[in-house]
Amino acid sequence: MQALKNYIAGQWVESAGALKDVYNPSNGELIGQVPLSPQSEMDAAIDAAQEAFCSWRTTPVSVRVSYLFKFYQLLQEDLPEISRLISIEGGKNKADSDAEIKRMMQNVECACGAPMLLAGEKLMDIASGGMDGEVIRQPLGVFGIIAPFNFPGMVPFWFMPYALAAGDTLVIKPSEQVPLTMQRIFTLIDKLGLPAGVINMVNGDKDTAAPLLENPKVKGVSFVGNTATAKKIAMACAANNKRFQALGSAKNHTIVMPDADLDRVVKALLTSCFGCAGQRCMATSLVVAMPEVYDELVAKFVEAAKGVVAGDALAPDTDMGPVISAAAKERILGLIEKGIADGAELLLDGRNIQLPAPLDKGHFVGATIFGNVTKDMAIYKEEIFGPVVGVMKAANLDEALALIRDCRFGNGASIFTQNGYWARQFQQNASAGMLGINVGIPAPVAYFPFGGEKESIYGDVKAQGRDVFDFMTQRKVVTTRFFAEN
Ligand code: NAD
Repeated sequence: MQALKNYIAGQWVESAGALKDVYNPSNGELIGQVPLSPQSEMDAAIDAAQEAFCSWRTTPVSVRVSYLFKFYQLLQEDLPEISRLISIEGGKNKADSDAEIKRMMQNVECACGAPMLLAGEKLMDIASGGMDGEVIRQPLGVFGIIAPFNFPGMVPFWFMPYALAAGDTLVIKPSEQVPLTMQRIFTLIDKLGLPAGVINMVNGDKDTAAPLLENPKVKGVSFVGNTATAKKIAMACAANNKRFQALGSAKNHTIVMPDADLDRVVKALLTSCFGCAGQRCMATSLVVAMPEVYDELVAKFVEAAKGVVAGDALAPDTDMGPVISAAAKERILGLIEKGIADGAELLLDGRNIQLPAPLDKGHFVGATIFGNVTKDMAIYKEEIFGPVVGVMKAANLDEALALIRDCRFGNGASIFTQNGYWARQFQQNASAGMLGINVGIPAPVAYFPFGGEKESIYGDVKAQGRDVFDFMTQRKVVTTRFFAEN
């Protein structure tokens, strides 16, 4: 099996790093070998990006964006193969893999607005004597992207097209757990005919990524992963005077009010809790029901969740594929055990799911639902990142909002109600960055910022859209006065 390569200065380059096997989580099949590239290779990619920046920064924005138009087209044509790779390495079913690519393309489309979005501002006559003031936006240089396993295509696209459009250059480090998708995407990037070094990819693990945090040529890092890592990235970047946006873990609450249409709620919960096997940073992991609807909701939800079909990510009838690895499965099962030990009521137990060969070698966890969850339990406090959801009661909306407020994470939250007053109270007071009103997965489209609050993010600009242009450009203020010739 051929090892994956790095892409540096417009060339495919073999790495000298040790090789790590990559397996299909549905069936344990060996599907690739990813190099854990040494830091010298990351430094070489940073050098290439720095060199490319010298001319890319002044390449007309219309020309920079023209590459994105072509990129969009190539992504569209290659969608079936990229989707297949996301499914075989990440375990997502076809619908979820296809949806991931659509969101990637939407970010490309959004970045094509750069000529409008990057324009500066000018104010004439800010002082007497013909003095004018102007803000110009300029690219900064080399940026790094460090990606998580759960969206191997989409997450890098929260940043990548904006960097290219803004005139910055890039080095991407995919997750070592899911490196095949980005390898394929770079075969498309290779066809774009970009100047060498504008966009580079180096495979590897956390050691490979270290120069992105330390090398003075890197101006900023866009990171997505768990909160413990996000904090380390933020601290290293701050110490080295680099910009950072580091998006972290989540624990998303969905509030169900007494007037909610419970059939609609259950339909939304099935996708939100069990889609991508619960490995979405926007997955609902806690359902907070009002006492009037708790029993009926629980009964309907458990009944419906029994019908969630787990199976091979590529099989057409699969609702839910595997979790990413044996280690992830073990961690999730450990948290289910803790839930039981803490006294939560196990209403649907996905621990002993049996699937025929070769899926018996996959890392499957069935849909799991706990009732009567309370704030002190580990399954309430910790990010499970698997198909495990807790249902709890709150006496009223204020109590439900207090739960969200007291949670250390604040990525997403939803409410189901037809009552405008409750919906407004929720919007005003739910302390999470991305809110849904009668929407199960309130993940913003590319034109809106993606990111949470509290420990779900370090840094103050988010992913997607204008935020990334703000992150990846500096605003310079120029004050001007010219004198009439004597
Ligand atoms: P992770 O933090 O383990 O790894 C993410 C990336 O960081 C990988 O590429 C890894 O190689 C690299 N890395 C790990 N330690 C590093 C270090 N010390 N220095 C530099 N790089 C390092 O995360 P994961 O398990 O791949 O992803 C799942 C997590 O990502 C979940 O917690 C999920 O909530 C979160 N996530 C958050 C969002 C969001 O928008 N907030 C979106 C997607 C995923």
